[in-house]
Amino acid sequence: MSSNISLAERDRQAVWHPFTPQIESHNPIAFVRGSGACLYDEAENTYIDAIASWWVNLHGHTHPHIVSAIMKQVQTLEHAIFSGFTHEPAIRLAEMLLSKLAFTNKVFYSDDGSTAVEVALKMAFQYWHNLGEPRYKLIAFENAYHGDTFGGMSVGARNVFSRAFEQVLFDVITIPAPTRGNEATSLHKLTEILSREKIAALIVEPLVQGAAGMVMYEPQALDALFDLARKHEVILIADEVMTGFGRTGTWFASDQLEIKPDIVCLSKGITGGFLPLGATLCNTRVYEAYLTSDRYKTFFHGHSYTANPTACAAAVASFELLEQVETQQAIKRITAYQQKQTELLSKHPCVADARCCGTIAAFELRSRQETNYLHPLADEMLAFFTAEKIILRPLGNIVYVLPPYCISDTQLDQVYDAIKRFLELHQA
Ligand SMILES: *Cc1c(COP(=O)(O)O)cnc(C)c1O
Repeated sequence: MSSNISLAERDRQAVWHPFTPQIESHNPIAFVRGSGACLYDEAENTYIDAIASWWVNLHGHTHPHIVSAIMKQVQTLEHAIFSGFTHEPAIRLAEMLLSKLAFTNKVFYSDDGSTAVEVALKMAFQYWHNLGEPRYKLIAFENAYHGDTFGGMSVGARNVFSRAFEQVLFDVITIPAPTRGNEATSLHKLTEILSREKIAALIVEPLVQGAAGMVMYEPQALDALFDLARKHEVILIADEVMTGFGRTGTWFASDQLEIKPDIVCLSKGITGGFLPLGATLCNTRVYEAYLTSDRYKTFFHGHSYTANPTACAAAVASFELLEQVETQQAIKRITAYQQKQTELLSKHPCVADARCCGTIAAFELRSRQETNYLHPLADEMLAFFTAEKIILRPLGNIVYVLPPYCISDTQLDQVYDAIKRFLELHQA
């Protein structure tokens, strides 16, 4: 390969990027290294990673503790088959996860958020199959996002992401998320559905619907739905792929619930943003449906890289960092910072809604057009913030800040200065 051609140019020749229109071939920025809350491009420009590299990074890029855990693991046991065999990193990580999600008692590994959700859905369907009283209906929230595989798309919103596949997705019943003012409607709709049909499972993004635009609701509102659904034996699935590992201010969003889910899906932050890994945790109720001598009732699911030891070692190291007092303090500091900015920006004439939950803050810009992923403001904001050397990737007219926990107040100030400058421009 000729070295005088830029990475961006070579990329354009060879690579197809996710969620990216192919005809408008903007040259993507090529990062060459990362450190702390920053990423550096080919020309040595520094960017603040204000969205934690798509919600995965917790402790900063190339954090030495995770780097050294990975180095040690690849030199010892890089990967091994996990069906019928095991290894310490997977066991250690499972013990750690179960210690924090004490209402669960088994961990099933997969590759990413989408597969963690697929596992949860299959686990729930087969639970009813194994019991000999099959249930085939699922309930999900409107505007949900649970990944890009077919199961994940089926329980997700029917929108631009899934339009081409609508005919081949399975039917799912939806209810509104219990956002402020919608709690009663949501509960009412659930009551009505449960009175007429047997439901296999209810899947939700607890407290924050990420891809929908960081849509937030109160734990009490979810408790009411979970309480009712559990009375109808519905399996409760919390998709914590985005909300896990401190994002909402607590270790898990489920920590803020009185009624605990039966199944929890984890990924994204699990390895601190170093390597792909998914985990689906379940409680004894679900697990016991598989504790049988009938081999036909086995959970026949697994991926080649299930419980990859290197990814598990990264996750163990990330977990250790998350447990440190300094990290917990950082989460509190960022939470307070986000709250302050939310209060401030809620008064801005261009902001239709400002909201925050833990380390996440989101700002919905006033617009005559409906909120939509393809909203023209998204491209405008993306170009502006990129030129400002801040990585923010708005969801339609909603800009959100979801930083790694190592970000400093000074760096956050820079991020918010850029947001405020965009708002001024937008207003003018
Ligand atoms: C990102 C996300 C997924 C999908 O995870 P991938 O790792 O991208 O497959 C599923 N559920 C939620 C809530 C997510 O935010």
